[in-house]
Amino acid sequence: QLSSRLKTVAEYIPNGSFLADIGSDHAYLPIFAFQNNIIRGAIAGDVADGPIAAAQASVNEADLTDVIETRKGNGLAVISDEDQVDCVTICGMGGSLIASILDNDKDKLATVKRLILQPNISANVIRRWLIQHNWELLAEKILEEDGHIYEILVAEKGDSYKPYNQDKIDQEILFGPFLLKEKSPAFLEKWSREYKEWNRIYEQLNKAVENEQIHKKKKQLKDYIEWYEEE
Ligand code: SAM
Repeated sequence: QLSSRLKTVAEYIPNGSFLADIGSDHAYLPIFAFQNNIIRGAIAGDVADGPIAAAQASVNEADLTDVIETRKGNGLAVISDEDQVDCVTICGMGGSLIASILDNDKDKLATVKRLILQPNISANVIRRWLIQHNWELLAEKILEEDGHIYEILVAEKGDSYKPYNQDKIDQEILFGPFLLKEKSPAFLEKWSREYKEWNRIYEQLNKAVENEQIHKKKKQLKDYIEWYEEE
């Protein structure tokens, strides 16, 4: 049974796509997407031996070796132009790692029409990267599963500033422009947890001898705390 998190990711894969799932681990997402007639084929990429072996074992087991190819490599390096990949999913990692995977091989995204990214933390780093590289955020989803709260970001090439309100773009990059409008229970839960944590850290830093780094961190926390209170 696939997690709700990855099922939700699958809902955003356009029908008939050729998918590259980067950091695929067990290849559960491409297998589910093929079995549910969403994709015509996929590359399941992963940088590590164990996960690639697990992915190959799942693909063999599902009898899908002719449509899902496992490839070992770093990030988007597993993709080549001939693959004509039109959708990329990168799920279950930190936002900074996802953004660096995208940034390291931007030319590999030439044929890609849609990115579906599921950071476990730091979605703001991805939103910033998308803005800077002309990927327009089309949809966002937040969900809670087994006590964890996950965000999913969907983007296509376009006007990357479109979903943002220029007057409060920094806030929207942190909270997510769509998620902030929607304010779902999972969203409110996530940010009330973070708010408590920011206050706790702020109090700690207040006790420390201030240097430039601490000053910067306190300023950032203060902004976050204010934005939360404003929203
Ligand atoms: N995508 C699956 C999911 O969401 O359930 C698996 C997530 S698992 C926590 C993260 C996977 O990303 C690991 O298998 C790890 O080896 C892989 N990974 C980490 N950095 C990577 C990179 N630079 N390139 C490709 N895979 C990477």
